[in-house]
Amino acid sequence: MISVRNITKSFGGVEVLQGLSFDVPRGKTAVLLGRSGSGKSTMLRCLNLLEHWDSGEIEVDGRSLGGERLADGKWRRWSSREQAQARQHIGMVFQQFNLFPHMTVLQNVMCGPRKILKKGVEESRTIAMNLLEQVGLADKKDQYPVFLSGGQQQRVAIARALAMRPQVLLLDEITSALDPELVGEVLEVVRDLKREGLTMVCVTHEMHFAHDVADEVIFLEGGRVVEQGDPREVLVRPSTEQLKRFLARFH
Ligand code: ADP
Ligand code: MG
Repeated sequence: MISVRNITKSFGGVEVLQGLSFDVPRGKTAVLLGRSGSGKSTMLRCLNLLEHWDSGEIEVDGRSLGGERLADGKWRRWSSREQAQARQHIGMVFQQFNLFPHMTVLQNVMCGPRKILKKGVEESRTIAMNLLEQVGLADKKDQYPVFLSGGQQQRVAIARALAMRPQVLLLDEITSALDPELVGEVLEVVRDLKREGLTMVCVTHEMHFAHDVADEVIFLEGGRVVEQGDPREVLVRPSTEQLKRFLARFH
């Protein structure tokens, strides 16, 4: 479903992605691990076209995410309209919940189907209510986000991302801003999505969760893949010193 090939990206002369490559098969979950500054968020932001990379190619479901190769060999970046289309099928949830504060929970979840997918009010409401049901928040539909706990807000943010019917869901440290007792309810929603076969790329520091949910763990350092593989292998018997040192911090 996702193919990342040799992605490089610099900020102000510093190359923060140094030729990253990985694949995520349809229905599988990849977990990106690495220290702060290793390039995890930048990689996810490229996958959602919030950032442009300097070289390399990303394909999602067989389509180039960033642009097209013209007959003369030159690269043409998608226009902003084409980018909006490419991005439509890729959902993202952030550490900060980013709900629209002036909208109710239901309005937050309905607005993608309404405004972007151009669906009618009734259909959008049905989509939104089904998703709120799924994340266990149907009874909060008329609340404003400020009255919800962090865990509830993050579950609404997941429902809002799902309302766009994404082929791929990107999760960037979605439990890092939560009180510890609220982490479980959010991760449970993600576990359900995995069971349903959604393709996901998660950045997390929750090692138990990574172990449970990852089909593949990808460990980054300095914008490169240092080690990758089955979590039952690489998290249990890491083969590089870098990953051993990284994991030692969680024991
Ligand atoms: P991680 O998510 O693994 O903590 P990031 O992808 O956020 O890492 O950052 C990787 C590196 O890129 C860091 O050194 C960070 O300071 C730098 N960086 C990220 N975004 C920007 C930006 N918009 N401008 C300049 N530097 C950035
Ligand atoms: Mg980050």
